[in-house]
Amino acid sequence: MLHDNPVTILCAHRVIDGAGRKSVLDEMYLKGSQLELADLEKKLGFLKKKYKFISISDYLKAFENGKRLPANSLILTFDDGYIEHYNDVYPLLKRLGIPASFFIATDYVSETDCKWDDKIAAMIARAKVKEFVLDTHLTGKRKFEIGNVEGKARAAGYLWRALKYAGVDERTDLICDLEKALGLTGSGSDNGAYRMTVSWENVKALADDPLMEVGAHTRTHPVLAGLTDEELRDELSASKKEIEERTGKTVSVLCYPYGKKYDYDERAKKFAKDAGFRAALSLDYGRNNGGTDLFALRRLPLLPEPMTIFKVRLSGILDFISAKRESVSHARAAVHQD
Ligand SMILES: [Zn+2]
Repeated sequence: MLHDNPVTILCAHRVIDGAGRKSVLDEMYLKGSQLELADLEKKLGFLKKKYKFISISDYLKAFENGKRLPANSLILTFDDGYIEHYNDVYPLLKRLGIPASFFIATDYVSETDCKWDDKIAAMIARAKVKEFVLDTHLTGKRKFEIGNVEGKARAAGYLWRALKYAGVDERTDLICDLEKALGLTGSGSDNGAYRMTVSWENVKALADDPLMEVGAHTRTHPVLAGLTDEELRDELSASKKEIEERTGKTVSVLCYPYGKKYDYDERAKKFAKDAGFRAALSLDYGRNNGGTDLFALRRLPLLPEPMTIFKVRLSGILDFISAKRESVSHARAAVHQD
């Protein structure tokens, strides 16, 4: 049977360099289960001893040619193209000789923009007010206490959940309302505050490195299950095409935004195949074997948990419980996790 050894795919989002003085925004992300760079390094050190790092291409080659993969094969993935993936994570991976894949939402490769949820977090981080009120149909009338980092992280997490399934226009309107409520209008557009993503130069450098791979994460990071056929086709094909044009490399793998069962559907899987992808990653919890759908590959999140728990979780003993707990904690994430 094809690679009957289960393959673990790990997934990380923000990786905060906690060595220096952390910004309020960094503290907010850390409250939202994002990783610290030193923690990532420690975990990679352990993984390097116990696991055989492979690339997604190795995985696909084995799958397509019916070859067996080494025991304890592990793939490392980073979603959303955060700037620290290039500045901090990439040099660390190079130093350790570890391959990884980076998934890019192409419309946000920008010096002045970022994903809507990151923008909300950044706005709340730099707001000077101690509380604010929103009265919208998405939130109802609601007061948010943001006098400290915990409150700021809670407010960002609440708005992430409230807006995740909203349409683009509704979201834009709410961000406008939020800007006013936070007293940020008229303060000049502080675009620097939103610089969170890699540049196309960074993406090309990653794609040019034989150890690294770049995959598509759509154009605007929407919930795919809610899109029309036309929008879905555009999100998948245009992101693939843009990365290919910018890097000169074929993009074979898609990563579904949000990635849970209810965020992508059979239609998204079919459109991904039609767009020319060879595989797609979800955030459904679990490991992969010869029977796993190549267009619903499972991943485990890399969490800021103690090494002892990390090791137990990696062993697979807790897969069933972790899958259940993860789906609950995901709904409560303080900032965001995907
Ligand atoms: Zn994402």
